Amino acid sequence: MIYYLGLGANLGEREKNLRRAIELIKKIPAVELKQVSSFYETEPWGVEGQPNYINAAIKISTTLEPLALLDELQRIELELGRIRREHWGARTLDIDILYGAEISHERLTVPHKFLFERDFALIPLAEIFPTLEYNLRGDKVVKVHGSPIDFKFKLVACVDKNFGLGKGGKLLFRIPADLKNFRALTLNHTIIFGRRTLETFPNQQPLDGRRNILLSRTPQKISGAEIVGSLEELFNVLDTAEENFVVGGAEIFNELIPYATEIILTVVDAAVDADAFFPNFLDEFILTSSEQLRIAHCALRIAFRRYTR
Ligand code: ATP
Ligand code: CA
Ligand code: CA
Repeated sequence: MIYYLGLGANLGEREKNLRRAIELIKKIPAVELKQVSSFYETEPWGVEGQPNYINAAIKISTTLEPLALLDELQRIELELGRIRREHWGARTLDIDILYGAEISHERLTVPHKFLFERDFALIPLAEIFPTLEYNLRGDKVVKVHGSPIDFKFKLVACVDKNFGLGKGGKLLFRIPADLKNFRALTLNHTIIFGRRTLETFPNQQPLDGRRNILLSRTPQKISGAEIVGSLEELFNVLDTAEENFVVGGAEIFNELIPYATEIILTVVDAAVDADAFFPNFLDEFILTSSEQLRIAHCALRIAFRRYTR
């Protein structure tokens, strides 16, 4: 079942609270994060004289029952230190279920009972739910520069026909045409990768001519690469104007796919034994271009494919 959630914070490090909440929502068992809207700065609604909010909406898919989902979201609100003083008062984090399977229960009303009266909820929601019909009231809702979706993340990988990426820490393929394509795509841009992917690079070293960012929870020092320990840190060092290429492995693709604008795959027309796979994306992305290539000297056929949301 698909649900759309509205997140808001107007105390503490507001953006950070939202990002942390998104990370915790991703960790709920049986919840898959599908999309994240831009972050918006909005004026308080209902009770005046409190600080402005940062608001965003996310799309999730879950097999949880609605009340079980609400329990999980309320647990996350508590974990992020929500202190509830007055109704509609200031808070470090509020998570509302905005839209999804209709329900009318003493603890939960979906769609949210004030959704259609709140520009601060509708504007982020509409961004990730384009078929939503609504009218705005003209409240002040300003897109914040530097929201996760403003970063241009492109996921680049070479896969077999089953979307296999690697086996035993090694890539499945080393095809010169693909490596050439990879270089042309990423040169002079930022590449983001995990520890094991670094080990697949020539001499296990960062790639020249590119800004190298290693996303790794274990602190370390590698010359030629910046190390970030979390997505939060990653967002803090990235420039929204730059093109960021996420180049693997499976775990890093999984973490960043909700923020991806494009997926660029080299698909090899073969089925190979693999233990790491590219995450599921076909229900969220559509194929926008495909170029077939036949490799001389061997029977392999490969295709360069691009997908966007
Ligand atoms: P509002 O619901 O008007 O945005 P609020 O978010 O400040 O106000 P809370 O104190 O966070 O209100 O929530 C009060 C109660 O609302 C929750 O304990 C929950 O049981 C109930 N509730 C009803 N519908 C929803 C919903 N769609 N999403 C989240 N909570 C809901
Ligand atoms: Ca609310
Ligand atoms: Ca709430």
